[in-house]
Amino acid sequence: MHDKEELLKGIYIEIARCVRCNLHTTRTCSVPGEGNADAKIMFIGEAPGFNEDQQGRPFVGAAGKFLTELICSIGLTREDVYITNVVKDRPPGNRDPLPDEISACCNFLDRQIEIIKPKIIVTLGRFSMARYFTGITISKIHGQPMRRDGIIYYPMYHPAAALHQGGLRKEIEQDMLRIPGLLEELKCAEALLVPKEPPARQLGLF
Ligand code: URA
Repeated sequence: MHDKEELLKGIYIEIARCVRCNLHTTRTCSVPGEGNADAKIMFIGEAPGFNEDQQGRPFVGAAGKFLTELICSIGLTREDVYITNVVKDRPPGNRDPLPDEISACCNFLDRQIEIIKPKIIVTLGRFSMARYFTGITISKIHGQPMRRDGIIYYPMYHPAAALHQGGLRKEIEQDMLRIPGLLEELKCAEALLVPKEPPARQLGLF
């Protein structure tokens, strides 16, 4: 098996056995994340909901259906990207994750990022945004990339926001459509780093 996949599998086993916070007492399945271990784009949501807890897969309910459509809108599939959450077990009744639950899971997410090495980290909603952006609200910065240490951090509204506030749907769709431009930017930056072949010397006749 691919090295990265093997390392991720090890983390999934740890997550399934994890008892670092109380969420393990109410979970049906843990939801570690899924997708391409070599993904350029990683989506980080908040926490599993009812459907995710039942299936052990991220974003498979109504918000997930919208996320899948958004990913398709930029010509990609879920298999091209990696999808995970800040918290790997469902908070009861879908309440917000608590600070101790977020910190209990933090090491798992850090290691997933370290293994996959995505070029673009898309934060979906406030809780994943708070890992990278502080002292600012999502309504102010959604759709505005931040470049740091060769990674683009890209804050977006959580797809579920469109289900509660229909008006946000268009904004979320438009934010998603900026991602191909960011990928293009990364491609150009990488091309500049590739050493150019020295120009072939013309052999003189004499
Ligand atoms: N909402 C999230 O933040 N993550 C999921 O996996 C599902 C819904």
